[in-house]
Amino acid sequence: MHLRAGRLTEAVEQYDRLMHISEFQAWIRARYDDTDRARGPSKTFIWFAEEFGELAHAIGTFEKGEANGDNLREEFADCLAWMCTLANICDVDLEQALQEKYLKDGGPKGTK
Ligand SMILES: [Mg+2]
Repeated sequence: MHLRAGRLTEAVEQYDRLMHISEFQAWIRARYDDTDRARGPSKTFIWFAEEFGELAHAIGTFEKGEANGDNLREEFADCLAWMCTLANICDVDLEQALQEKYLKDGGPKGTK
């Protein structure tokens, strides 16, 4: 009984931490949209590419067994944040795009 209650509590706590991609994209828009739109898509893509490089380095470190979990999570978060930024300034709803490409009708056939 105690275990089940613990699992329920854990599930509720986890649910509280969940968010939709659209919520995160909206948060990025609310916080950064003016500066992001002023910078524009091309320059923003360069920032995104830089973060991609940082993620590549963190993954390389992970593969060598020298993982710094905090840094690896941070770089994944940075890439997603810049992806949301790019989507915002290109007027793309990421959640809609994901639904259409990957979830609707069983998703893409074969590879991504
Ligand atoms: Mg980074």
